[in-house]
Amino acid sequence: MIQLFLPLNFLGFVYREIRRALTDLENMLGLLQRKSSIVDKADAKPLVTQGASIQFEQVSFAYQADRPILNNLSFTVAAGQKVAIVGASGAGKSTIARLLYRFYDVSGGRILIDQQDIKGLTLDSLRQAIAIVPQDTVLFNSSIRDNIAYAKPGASASEIAQVIELAQLRQFIDSLPQGDDTLVGERGLKVSGGEKQRIAIARALLKGSPILVFDEATSALDSLAEQSIVAAMREVAKQHTSVVIAHRLSTITDADCILVLRQGELIEQGSHQQLLDLAGEYAKMWQQQAKQTRLTT
Ligand code: ATP
Repeated sequence: MIQLFLPLNFLGFVYREIRRALTDLENMLGLLQRKSSIVDKADAKPLVTQGASIQFEQVSFAYQADRPILNNLSFTVAAGQKVAIVGASGAGKSTIARLLYRFYDVSGGRILIDQQDIKGLTLDSLRQAIAIVPQDTVLFNSSIRDNIAYAKPGASASEIAQVIELAQLRQFIDSLPQGDDTLVGERGLKVSGGEKQRIAIARALLKGSPILVFDEATSALDSLAEQSIVAAMREVAKQHTSVVIAHRLSTITDADCILVLRQGELIEQGSHQQLLDLAGEYAKMWQQQAKQTRLTT
């Protein structure tokens, strides 16, 4: 009996694995089909920027029809200004960045850059205008210089040196035995979360886009690393329209406008001081984070 049971059991296992693989394949194809729905319209025009203001006009969005994520969201970032987005995990902060980059199209409302609806623009020109500093940057196995330069193949040595300065990486690079020739990545030098994010800032700067989206790392950074990133971001903000998705409020007190999101709705907006004076949700978050910082220092 057991001689019969074992092969049948094995066949059952093979059947389940094949079923699962087919489901994965279906899911993947579904994803590809959805992704390919974001394509240039027949009459798409290239984006023409003049300072790069951003406008969300009554934007609504859902990844799945029965679960709205953003609800009637409106805000404006004037050219050259810095807006910060804060709110609890899952509030929809990163979704705003994904919509701006057109990974997805809005379900309702419009997103405009310098008065041009991004749905009518060529994807190439839109994505060339936006540089993203992701939460967790991937470094490939090559020199620090190559890791920065890949944002702009053919960048000159002086362009690279300039972004290294702006991203506050000079001191770090000078402390390495082979300077910017030092190998990083899996098989090279392990760099800290803060250094990695500054390499990503340098990369984004080299791209030369007028809009910068900075997705702050959620992982804890020591206060020195945080200060270096804040200093780098302040330099960057001088030349860009910037959108900062922030987890630590201490990093965005200088923002021109802070948007407070709760479950996809904008519940407060204003400068750091205005929001503290309002004594609402932001002020509560500020007090909580101040308490945690005191506890951990
Ligand atoms: P965090 O601070 O944790 O990064 P967030 O405010 O940036 O959170 P989003 O990443 O914008 O939140 O996600 C908002 C909501 O959308 C969450 O409930 C999340 O689970 C859901 N979500 C995000 N990406 C997808 C996706 N690809 N498909 C379905 N739901 C998603």
